[in-house]
Amino acid sequence: MKVITELKALREAIHHHKQSGCSIGFVPTMGFLHEGHLTLVKEARKQNDIVVMSIFVNPLQFGPNEDFERYPRDIERDSILAENAGVDILFIPVAEEMYPGTTSIKMNVTERVNVLCGKKREGHFDGVVTVLTKLFHLVQPDRAYFGLKDAQQIAVVEGLVQDYFFPVEIVRVPTVREEDGLAKSSRNVYLSEKERSEAPVLYESLEKVKNKIESGETSGDSIISEVTDFIHSRTSGQVEYVEVYSFPELTPIDDLKGEIIIALAVQYQKARLIDNMIISLNEEENQHV
Ligand code: AMP
Repeated sequence: MKVITELKALREAIHHHKQSGCSIGFVPTMGFLHEGHLTLVKEARKQNDIVVMSIFVNPLQFGPNEDFERYPRDIERDSILAENAGVDILFIPVAEEMYPGTTSIKMNVTERVNVLCGKKREGHFDGVVTVLTKLFHLVQPDRAYFGLKDAQQIAVVEGLVQDYFFPVEIVRVPTVREEDGLAKSSRNVYLSEKERSEAPVLYESLEKVKNKIESGETSGDSIISEVTDFIHSRTSGQVEYVEVYSFPELTPIDDLKGEIIIALAVQYQKARLIDNMIISLNEEENQHV
């Protein structure tokens, strides 16, 4: 595995692989790798000649009161995990090169953004599409891999790629979970012991309403109340939102039909956890990820 920190060196390596006719799979991350990230690599490994992973804690996607400074980082451990998972190029840019000064154009996401996390995390998705535009141009991937745990991010990125004709296929990868159902996340390390023991309730609540929907429940409001009450009564975390939308458009729906997402966020003392379930109600059998 090659570790690259400079843009120039990355451009040269990509140029070389493109000249050789290699396909490139790309896994953008903020590091502190876990099995969720490594599953994206595994998928990329299957479908491409070269796998590029980036690790960059992107300052632009953190709000002033968010956890940019204390976001967990461990580049040494990450490098070992990335190499063992089959990454060919680990790109670790520095902020000064990614954002060298004032810009003449600012990106502003207008759809799929005023709901779920985007509602509270103002400017977050502007930061996400800005860094991904830069990374897509640098890495020139044939395919880029994103986890459905961050379903709104996938919806926004699919919008970006569609709107601006990026020649990249976005591959959605199902959420990887701990044995007790908690979605794996770099931020799980912030949970106290008690909070960690309560946190599986997020996924339990989604599983519970999935069964209800499969048994014929069609009211989004009733699903929202049920998930909220279930979590509220079983954990000290504060429910920030429980919302139901069409996916990936993220538009409100009256009746549950088509592809839908039930998504939630719960605030603990030092960690804000998100989870979701996407259910396709078109097919005979409901499918959840
Ligand atoms: P992050 O480092 O948190 O920005 O995540 C980098 C990528 O890994 C994003 O596409 C995430 O959606 C994905 N990811 C994070 N956690 C998981 C998980 N538990 N399962 C699947 N993908 C994940």
